[in-house]
Amino acid sequence: MNLAPLIDDTIQMVDLTGQYQRIKPEIDAAIQDCIDQAIFIKGGKVTQFENQLAQYLDIEQVISCGNGTDAIQLAFMALGLKPGDEVIVPAFTYAAAAEVIALLGLVPVLVDVDPLTFNMTAASVEGAITPKTRAVVPVHLFGQCADMENILNLCSSRELYIIEDNAQSLGAQYTFKAGKVVSAGGLGHLGITSFFPSKNLGCFGDGGAVYTNHPALGARVRMIANHGQEVKYRHDVIGINSRLDTIQAVILLEKLKFLNSYINARQQAASWYDAAFQDVAEIEIPGRTSYSTHVFHQYTLKVPAHQRDGLKAFLQQRNIPSMVYYPISLARQKAYQGVSRVVGDLNVTEELCQQVLSLPMHTELKPLQLEFITDSVRTFFEMAR
Ligand SMILES: *Cc1c(COP(=O)(O)O)cnc(C)c1O
Repeated sequence: MNLAPLIDDTIQMVDLTGQYQRIKPEIDAAIQDCIDQAIFIKGGKVTQFENQLAQYLDIEQVISCGNGTDAIQLAFMALGLKPGDEVIVPAFTYAAAAEVIALLGLVPVLVDVDPLTFNMTAASVEGAITPKTRAVVPVHLFGQCADMENILNLCSSRELYIIEDNAQSLGAQYTFKAGKVVSAGGLGHLGITSFFPSKNLGCFGDGGAVYTNHPALGARVRMIANHGQEVKYRHDVIGINSRLDTIQAVILLEKLKFLNSYINARQQAASWYDAAFQDVAEIEIPGRTSYSTHVFHQYTLKVPAHQRDGLKAFLQQRNIPSMVYYPISLARQKAYQGVSRVVGDLNVTEELCQQVLSLPMHTELKPLQLEFITDSVRTFFEMAR
């Protein structure tokens, strides 16, 4: 039976329109206020957003900027590393961190990831350290923290900087063995996030932030983001221009109020998926850990490599979108050949590139939609048996 006609609206990977409709009056009024006051750059609302996000994360300083990639660049510029210094990044992730590292003349060192969490591990980092290693970038992929306690211990004993790429896991919580709970992004020297529209806290364009509990690093990031000036027209270091627009800040101020409910909606959709797939032998549902909550930026299945593309096509026939994050490891990307150093055979990473499929995940998924998606996935495997 084709269930599609029962669904009142099309299923999307991310439903930004539905989310906006729920808070349209507040958002519209906030944007109109910016226009009426003609305050578009900086101003009190940007500072207010930085302070409220700092409070939400329980992190000392938040420095907003133009996008998440700029945030990574600002973080690295603040550390003042030298060309040729090595930075360890996971091979299974979005290219932004490796890109900025290479642009700054540093060497991205690509390591394998954990098959359960898709994140780098302390062991993978340890095997990649050389006398040139200066920093490590744990990417908290798809909404869940890397195993930070072990990574922190390793990095502190080897005197390495940690920059957390938290673009996908804003709002995730990390619990140490002793019970202490810290927000993702607040564990290393610097954390970064992105407010790209489809991220868990998205604005209506580009936006990003760096955060830190180290005041001196925070001050440096702020200075570099503002053309290297602390005092107007006095340039102490070479900086860049990277700002969060005021209109984006007022949108984020409204949406931050709902971040916990957004996370909750994503977790509920994930629970639905989990329950529907637990007895499907071909499917491995996203692994969970004892140390991190999962805020489900993506809900990513592992399926047999030879069936992955068939499943994607089958779903597409039923107008169900799905995405492969990520189809090509950083080690196999043309741009990074010869620029990066690859550690080991990256078996897990290369296997994941063939096995992963992310299903629709957002705050507006309705039970009928979830049912149609999960029934369709189950039907695909039943037909294939
Ligand atoms: C989205 C994303 C970024 C970059 O954010 P932009 O705001 O698009 O520059 C960096 N790292 C990861 C893991 C991301 O998902």
